[in-house]
Amino acid sequence: MTDQADVGLLERLAQGPVICAEGYLFELERRGYLQAGAFVPEVVVEHPEKVVELHREFVHAGSDVVEAFTYYAHREKLRLIGKEQLLEQLNRDALRIAKEVAEETSSLLAGDICNTNVFEPGNQGSADQVRGMFTEQVGWAVDAGVDFVIGETFSYAEEALLALEVIKESGLPSVITLAIHQEPLTREGWSVAEAGKRLADAGADVVGLNCIRGPDTMLPLLEELVPAVEVPVAALPVPYRTRPDQPSFQSLREPDQPESHRPFPVALDPFTGTRHEIADFTVAARELGVAYFGVCCGAGPHHIRAMAETLGRTPPASRYSADMSKHAFLGSDSSLREHNLAFGSTEL
Ligand SMILES: [Zn+2]
Repeated sequence: MTDQADVGLLERLAQGPVICAEGYLFELERRGYLQAGAFVPEVVVEHPEKVVELHREFVHAGSDVVEAFTYYAHREKLRLIGKEQLLEQLNRDALRIAKEVAEETSSLLAGDICNTNVFEPGNQGSADQVRGMFTEQVGWAVDAGVDFVIGETFSYAEEALLALEVIKESGLPSVITLAIHQEPLTREGWSVAEAGKRLADAGADVVGLNCIRGPDTMLPLLEELVPAVEVPVAALPVPYRTRPDQPSFQSLREPDQPESHRPFPVALDPFTGTRHEIADFTVAARELGVAYFGVCCGAGPHHIRAMAETLGRTPPASRYSADMSKHAFLGSDSSLREHNLAFGSTEL
């Protein structure tokens, strides 16, 4: 019998879709352990048990990957909050925690690097700084024994290319995903197809899109990306109801609310998509040829479970998936009371 723990990312992708749950920042913010704004994952050192629990919940819901919570745990973010001294500890702790859960659940372990907010096109100094930040983080991921490294949420494809170079130097497989804002282009103005092709040509093992756009406004970009590349494509939308006139989750507005109540980032609740919508996205993306799935900022374990079940899985959490046959008013079980069912059919 093959132990799934010994099967790497690329082998798993050759067998079928892979699911990687993300969205740690938003979920831990909602739970009261991480501050919106700077969005630095200090929870890793302040409340590691909360991170462990969320890793476990995502695997329970169907994630094949435990992604170390090092998103925004880079030198620039720690400088911004005056805690650069925490940089190495935070990264090493996040990797250790993720490894613990990956080992206990036979999941893949992924390192993570992301947009630095330092990158500026045409500025060699910024490129050098970004490369240094990636090199130190990828080094810690290598030390922890990760199976692959995710480089994510890059709105500049050139910054994604730098991340890819550093990951490739480590010899580990890479998943590189771009974050596309209101314009359907990278910030340097490349089409998604062009950016994906350049990344694949430069050796990315998986290329795709994550964050910023919800299912409905990410799908048209996936339609463009999938046929442009030979490598597996990743799709990790945010779970929000973005639409053509408000295609990014930062651009969502409620017409009757003042600007001070802008939905992003802490009042997006009314825009949250249901598990049915995530299931519909999963079907559509799979039909397009997407191979690597997930949900980004705003995702909860229920979204991941919907995705997993749509892909034909029965993760442990499926034991609790809805069975309405035993609902007192809407069910079908023969022992249910007629007067309740009659009430349920007309007056509930
Ligand atoms: Zn995100």
